[in-house]
Amino acid sequence: MYVYVNGKIVPSKEAVVSVFDHGFLYGDGIYETLRVYDSVLFKIDEHLQRLFRSASLIGLSIPLDTNHLKIALYETLIANRLSNAYVRLTISRGQGSLGLDPDFCPKPTVIIITQEFKEYPEAYYKHGIRLMIAETRRNLREAINPQIKSLNFLNNVLAKIEAKKQGAYEAIMLNENAFLAEGTISNIFFYKGGSLCTPSIDCGILDGITRGIVTDLARQEGLSVHEGMFTKNDLYAAEEVFLTNTTMEVMPISAVDSQTYPVGKIARLLRKLYRRGVNAYVSGVKAEGPSLWGLEE
Ligand code: PMP
Repeated sequence: MYVYVNGKIVPSKEAVVSVFDHGFLYGDGIYETLRVYDSVLFKIDEHLQRLFRSASLIGLSIPLDTNHLKIALYETLIANRLSNAYVRLTISRGQGSLGLDPDFCPKPTVIIITQEFKEYPEAYYKHGIRLMIAETRRNLREAINPQIKSLNFLNNVLAKIEAKKQGAYEAIMLNENAFLAEGTISNIFFYKGGSLCTPSIDCGILDGITRGIVTDLARQEGLSVHEGMFTKNDLYAAEEVFLTNTTMEVMPISAVDSQTYPVGKIARLLRKLYRRGVNAYVSGVKAEGPSLWGLEE
């Protein structure tokens, strides 16, 4: 396996960063997770736009422009001969010295890790996965804005530990006012009385790219979509529940705490439409010409 480290693609054993990197010392950095379908980076522009937004929210200047980041991403995929992949692009404040001051770090560290995408078991999509509502609350927007996709992930890790203790796959965090926020790596939706509901961005969540696609698809289907403030009782009373993120796409939920749900028609429909959208996107990129970034070489 090869990893991109600051402009070089090196074998994974040689892919190392300094112990003085502020990403390691202070969680000072940002990242994106992308998915590659059939040699095409899905929604690359949206992911890079969010990366640049995260960077600007932490006052980090990314040393590569969008085009060079795309080239670096595709070159790493080509080096690894991957066509269906999971990609993690990390940019930290860089190597500095002890002490928080970002000015100690003249050069951000850029890392790209790619690995073959392993599909989630089909049984998860057929029967749904279990959720629990964590005691750990989502970071305050005024503390670390969840719209910064930052390396500082301890909030999410703590919620994930709670989920694991209870045998749940994912934890849902509430915000400081006890309204539903999001999962540790996912956004949440539920369907009730003809409306598709999902916490609004104001609840202090990451505006997931999958969340955006799914709400658009639902609206195009004529579903009424309600982005608002919901409590855990709204979730318990739902007819169906599902999660979204780049890797899971649309994942149905079988239980939240002790409340159970069937895998419903809305989750099934939206998963099908999402897949259709992925295929259309991939064909669109490939139709733009001989794929510069295909793996044909
Ligand atoms: N919320 C959080 C906290 C996440 O880490 C993720 C995964 N990036 C998501 C939501 C879903 O975002 P996306 O659909 O862009 O993968």
